[in-house]
Amino acid sequence: MILGCLALNASFEPLTMVPMRRALRLVIDGKAEIVEAEQDRVVRSERLTMPRPAVIRLTKFIHVPRRFRRQVTNTFLFARDHYRCQYCGRPAAELKPREALTRDHVIPISRGGTNDWTNVVTACSPCNTRKGNRLPAEIGMMPLTRPVEPHFVHLSWAVRRLTQTQARYIRTFYGDSILHQLEALEHRAHPHRGHGAQHVLELGDQTGAAAD
Ligand SMILES: [Zn+2]
Repeated sequence: MILGCLALNASFEPLTMVPMRRALRLVIDGKAEIVEAEQDRVVRSERLTMPRPAVIRLTKFIHVPRRFRRQVTNTFLFARDHYRCQYCGRPAAELKPREALTRDHVIPISRGGTNDWTNVVTACSPCNTRKGNRLPAEIGMMPLTRPVEPHFVHLSWAVRRLTQTQARYIRTFYGDSILHQLEALEHRAHPHRGHGAQHVLELGDQTGAAAD
């Protein structure tokens, strides 16, 4: 299992999860400081031993580009829409074997629609096919929820899992409601996993914006 470390901006705003190896590199290079470490766990390299960081803080403020924040991926789109078709309302679990969740453009690209968060919704493949290149009013298919751009935090943590220490920083900066939404999303994404204090993140590194 790959262990993750929560990276905070210099302003203490939670930014993203980074793989442990990268977190250590940032600390060793003086680009980040350890804010929270797991007291009973250490990491060793040839030359040094240090407590394993759970939360690091970048020493220089990093401006997160809008382009990164706005990028639509199916992973986050489906999470935003709670893994539910926004036309017929069916959740992923109720789809038939050959059906799948897809990305639907409310105003089709061919009709001048964009790929922005406000114009894309989760749709099951039959609904997407039925809607085709028509406008919602032309076929009477309105999304159940008006699509909005998700909070930056949602994009970073929709499919991640946080340790309690790390969650505390999310709560401090963004409040309980965001944390609860994240936990709900995370739970939907991995319903077979339990909840508890011992959770450690599994990382994909596709959102490693903080450290790049
Ligand atoms: Zn549907």
